[in-house]
Amino acid sequence: MAGTLSIVAVPIGNLEDITLRALRVLREATVIACEDTRETGRLLQLLGVARPKLVSYHDHNAEKRLPGLIDRLLLGEAVALVSDAGTPGISDPGFRLVRAAIDEGVDVVPIPGACAAVTALCASGLPTDRFRFVGFLPQKGSGRRRALAALASAAETLVFYESPHRLEAFLADAAAALGEDRPAVIARELTKKFEEFRRGSLGALSADPGTVRGELVVLVGGAPEVAPEAVDVEQVVAALLAEGLAPSAAAREAAQRTGATREVAYAAVMALREKA
Ligand code: SAM
Repeated sequence: MAGTLSIVAVPIGNLEDITLRALRVLREATVIACEDTRETGRLLQLLGVARPKLVSYHDHNAEKRLPGLIDRLLLGEAVALVSDAGTPGISDPGFRLVRAAIDEGVDVVPIPGACAAVTALCASGLPTDRFRFVGFLPQKGSGRRRALAALASAAETLVFYESPHRLEAFLADAAAALGEDRPAVIARELTKKFEEFRRGSLGALSADPGTVRGELVVLVGGAPEVAPEAVDVEQVVAALLAEGLAPSAAAREAAQRTGATREVAYAAVMALREKA
């Protein structure tokens, strides 16, 4: 019988964020695939987990390491995948191993836990009903600006990972591409001693980003949605006024045609008159 590949989330700072289930799975694993064997060795020691065999697995050696890990799984071993911090596969290696295991009919079991994106989002104060995880943008200015421009009309909260030394350039480009007034949050050093949430408009944060050190997530509120009603009503009202209807009749008729309330239609009439 094939073994199991467990995708084990580990803390992003505070060791107390390890779960009981993660501890058990790490103890039961015959091999742990990890980005950096020294880093994971240290973590296991701090967590009091006896060190099983550690295999380094990262983007640059995935091709070489995949066959060995898949063989172990097919022989029935319990393999755990961890990254240096947080959830494997989230801006970290993991995807190719998960896909290869699925292709071989191996069970892949997620062991959920810390993830910087969700940790930042849930306390950001920005809408959480819809969000887009963007992760790291291209490092070069031109690529970053292109990527930001493509996100300008996204209505959901945007979640970025960024390194501290690119933060200022990122915020300046984001303010230019998405708008200075967008609400934004810089979430720094999550779950650690100097955890900080810095909230403000993109323009304000860009002018004063605060401490530019440590690990950080930047969140930006989505593009304001244009109520289709507002656009339609104004167009309909303009046409009706041009036909010669009196303002109140135009408002009444526009409300009926568009389904907007009378107040909204009348406000559109007043706005048009003011513009004229
Ligand atoms: N797999 C990880 C996860 O689940 O969040 C992400 C790994 S990615 C290589 C590292 C990036 O995640 C950092 O550059 C930073 O943007 C974010 N990050 C990780 N830990 C963080 C923390 N404690 N506070 C703020 N951001 C963090």
